[in-house]
Amino acid sequence: MNDSCRYLFGPVVSRRLGRSLGVDLIPAKTCSISCIFCQLGPTRNPTLERREYVPTEQVIAELRAWIRAGGETDFITLAGSGEPTLHLHFDRVLKFLEPHPFRTALLSNGTLFTDPAVRRGAAHADVVKLSLSAWDRTSFERIHHPHPDLDFEPMMKGYRDFRSLYRGALWLEVFVVPGLNSGEEQVKRIAARAKEIRPDRVQLNTAVRPAAEAGVRAASPDKLQRLAALFDPPAEIAAPRAHGGTVSLPLSAQTLTGILQRHPATAAQLAEMIGHPEEAVRELLEDMVRAGRCHTREQKDETFFTR
Ligand code: SF4
Repeated sequence: MNDSCRYLFGPVVSRRLGRSLGVDLIPAKTCSISCIFCQLGPTRNPTLERREYVPTEQVIAELRAWIRAGGETDFITLAGSGEPTLHLHFDRVLKFLEPHPFRTALLSNGTLFTDPAVRRGAAHADVVKLSLSAWDRTSFERIHHPHPDLDFEPMMKGYRDFRSLYRGALWLEVFVVPGLNSGEEQVKRIAARAKEIRPDRVQLNTAVRPAAEAGVRAASPDKLQRLAALFDPPAEIAAPRAHGGTVSLPLSAQTLTGILQRHPATAAQLAEMIGHPEEAVRELLEDMVRAGRCHTREQKDETFFTR
């Protein structure tokens, strides 16, 4: 990727998609909710305002240049540092990509799927991943601290309506937070809500990076495995995937900064994402810390680098 790209990042190796070129349509941490597990920290002012947060034509120009330069990836993914469907024209980016030989994905918290225009726009993606970590209004509010105008049941109706019109792959992501939604009865209730939506896949995730709220822990692999069996058909565990081919991103402070402002990561995770030896990545990260270009955060005996 060209270092001058403002709206593209990666390709990074994503736990869900393999090699994924990210498209970030939203300024840092612009979101409709404030998940307690968010790796980007709390959302200061949750918003429901849909507008052109970044210039659509510039995003498309960056994609066009990346494609012309022979970029390779498994997916091009609308994701990044906030909720992508808040961007009024996210669908134009998906439509631009339709004739190109890349699969597209939209990773959304789903809260705006009450809006028919958002559902129609999302239907242009090959894969749509929506969040479902709650089973009712109370659990939704506890886990996601939503904008005050959001409500859980209308969102569920939006999910069902989307399923009725969408022919692509609909995935649900259940983020398991021990002590909040990890009990067997709680997960059975989430599984029942998931069934209403008829997803193609359900994936369980948990906090592998520092979370917005202190005290949010990761569920153990054994626990996730047991909970996955409560879904019908059983859920998958979102786990790191090997990628085929080499990701040839330059080992530069700019590359690492582009990733770290969206994904806090360990040196090992960054090394895997950009395809360079861990030692070389670690040395550069330490230089960046000394220069004040990133900082560190400890979690569970691991050092995460973040912006
Ligand atoms: S995890 Fe995603 S949906 Fe939740 S607050 Fe962070 S950016 Fe928003």
